[in-house]
Amino acid sequence: MDHINRLSDSLRQFPGIGPRQAKRFVYFLLGASDSYRASLAREIVELSAHAAICSSCYRFFDNKGVAETPLCAVCRDASRDKESLMIVAKDVDLDAVEKSKVYSGYYFVLGNTLSLVDKDPDAKIRTKELIPAIEQRAKAGLKEIILALSLNAEGEHTREFVENLIAPLIRAHRLKVSILGRGLSTGTELEYSDAETIKNALIGRKQETLV
Ligand SMILES: [Zn+2]
Repeated sequence: MDHINRLSDSLRQFPGIGPRQAKRFVYFLLGASDSYRASLAREIVELSAHAAICSSCYRFFDNKGVAETPLCAVCRDASRDKESLMIVAKDVDLDAVEKSKVYSGYYFVLGNTLSLVDKDPDAKIRTKELIPAIEQRAKAGLKEIILALSLNAEGEHTREFVENLIAPLIRAHRLKVSILGRGLSTGTELEYSDAETIKNALIGRKQETLV
């Protein structure tokens, strides 16, 4: 395979990018300046050296210092509401909620959503990390878990899976579980929702009854 095709194959692995878009990116890069390409390549190479995964919410963040257990700005902020924990699928969802400035609790990032055909959910979302994260938050005064997943098939399936997974913990610690309510229309992806929509969905959140 030639270089152009190899690069376009790599770009196709980006979320939402098809073969034609990937080729367009490659041609864009071919038309760009040497210095732009060099700086982009450097940014990519240096990403792993400068980014860390938060040891509490599991989001990626720009880690300027080197800490044994890196904590992002949200998790480091002790003034946030310790009574609520919002579970989101992806980093971009957390970013969207933070940008809306209507939520002041803590987060947990699952890392992905589950589809009906996923055979091994534990390999796709952070199930092993979620349980201790809730245990720890429960000791620190947690009262409510908000499942903020997109209102599409994968979001719904992920929500059901997570509800079953955390049900024993919910009972043990007498926690409240709620899901985002009206405001988010069916099929909506959280990451593309504006601040007003997220605010309404949060205010209109519904309590779940777990059996
Ligand atoms: Zn964090």
